[in-house]
Amino acid sequence: MTTARLHSWLSPECEIRTSLAGSGVFARHAFPPHTCVAVWGGVVRTEDELQALASRDEKFSSHAICVGDGFYLTWDPSGVDATELFNHSCSPNLGVKGQIVVVTRRAIQPGEELTFDYDTTETTPQPWPCRCGSPACRGTIDGKGWDDPAFLRANRGYLAWHIEERARRAGHLPDDASDEGAPC
Ligand SMILES: [Zn+2]
Repeated sequence: MTTARLHSWLSPECEIRTSLAGSGVFARHAFPPHTCVAVWGGVVRTEDELQALASRDEKFSSHAICVGDGFYLTWDPSGVDATELFNHSCSPNLGVKGQIVVVTRRAIQPGEELTFDYDTTETTPQPWPCRCGSPACRGTIDGKGWDDPAFLRANRGYLAWHIEERARRAGHLPDDASDEGAPC
């Protein structure tokens, strides 16, 4: 698997490191809170297109970024984009603004791994086990955060637009959340 910045932007203060657990994105230097560390880019695929690609190469499923109901960002055939290597944590230090902007949720120390909560973007019907090690670990990444009031409270302001919309339609968020720190 090659990694590169293909269509996205990753702060030069970040670096990709690999370990037995796989690849991840790490801070080379300290970041203050509310700092943009990445902007996701890529090729927009529909659900059907993604499934067809994933049937030939599983990485298309495991590294796709959900940016809307039924829409995903993936890389082109030249390799996995470095910004798709953020690992999941149930106690993340990053969050999503809108659909493609990734920011720090708190101050980050040099050497820390940078993580976001996949359920703040993901709506997959296929759950997979979480082993993030956080005391707050939910045990499963299930794409149902939009339907969990406690999850929504914990991640307010760091939910992808389509997650907020689902939560709103389900009655978990007010119709107009513009005065409550909603993402742009
Ligand atoms: Zn977890």
